[in-house]
Amino acid sequence: MKRILTGLQPTGKLTLGNLIGGINQIKKYQNEFDSFIFVPDMHSITIEQNPIELRKNIISTIALYLACGIDKDKNTFYIQSENLYHANLSWILECNVGFGQLSRMTQFKDKSQKKINVTCGLFTYPVLMAADILLYSANFVPTGIDQKQHVELARDIAECFNKKYGNTFVVPEPIIPQLGAKIMDLQNPLIKMSKSAENEKGVIYLLDTEDVIRKKVKSAVTDSDNKVCYDSENKPGVSNLLTIYACLNNLCIIDAEKHFENYQYGAFKSEVAESIINTLKPIQEKYYEILNSNLIEEVLKNGYSKVLEISKEKYNEVKNKVGLGRIDFIV
Ligand code: AMP
Repeated sequence: MKRILTGLQPTGKLTLGNLIGGINQIKKYQNEFDSFIFVPDMHSITIEQNPIELRKNIISTIALYLACGIDKDKNTFYIQSENLYHANLSWILECNVGFGQLSRMTQFKDKSQKKINVTCGLFTYPVLMAADILLYSANFVPTGIDQKQHVELARDIAECFNKKYGNTFVVPEPIIPQLGAKIMDLQNPLIKMSKSAENEKGVIYLLDTEDVIRKKVKSAVTDSDNKVCYDSENKPGVSNLLTIYACLNNLCIIDAEKHFENYQYGAFKSEVAESIINTLKPIQEKYYEILNSNLIEEVLKNGYSKVLEISKEKYNEVKNKVGLGRIDFIV
């Protein structure tokens, strides 16, 4: 069975973009593939975090995965930092990737322009992401468009390593949803809806209350046309709301457009908001139930022993090929 791997950073609160571009993709593939789901908490500390908040968010992320319908029996759950092989492999890969290659990562360029304190971790984190993927021989990585360049880097690293040291890594492929690969900010539909947005009004969080969702959608930026149709260049706000509606209702854009043919923006926005509420309400109910149960501990315990075994084997293969330590010493 081919393997698929996904991670959602526990930085802040998960958003509707994470649900559509990340979690819903896993749900689609969990029956077809051996699915690994992890919390990349080491990625989160590339920017400053409050330790108490971070730990809360790690558990909350696992609870949300489960509440969104990621099946505990069909997926392997784990926390990145609890398995030391990620960082060890990342170091070896860092020594096999060019500085110039990392300098071209657009996310680093974007983030480093915003953040005052640019850490080395922020620069090298795409290599850690490559280690996350290559350690488990993942065939597929479902991702929004924002992470495509990083999966391509993982492919390049795998190919170069295989050429230099002999066949070692599976070369992963990104899976990008046709619709919903980039859900945009409601206040500025030219940028991605992001956990780290400065203005929370543009972001729907998975745990937002009904009233907050209605307010945020009502104040979403549109245009003066008052005609609901898809045109991402000239009508980015309306196109984004249409995309959200289509994704949440399993429709193609044309059918979503037809549905809203004779709608004015006010009624259109109300229906989009109700659709979001109907999607998130059952998730929120389950989320609080899961937080008060033993389910999280159970899935993490099972996942840990499985991933440790797989990653140990791969790391030792790599270490031996590179010439580190003694050949017969298993780390
Ligand atoms: P992150 O929040 O950066 O950890 O991303 C986790 C997953 O959610 C990745 O697959 C992202 O590509 C996806 N994702 C995050 N934000 C969005 C968005 N606004 N639209 C679509 N997918 C997203």
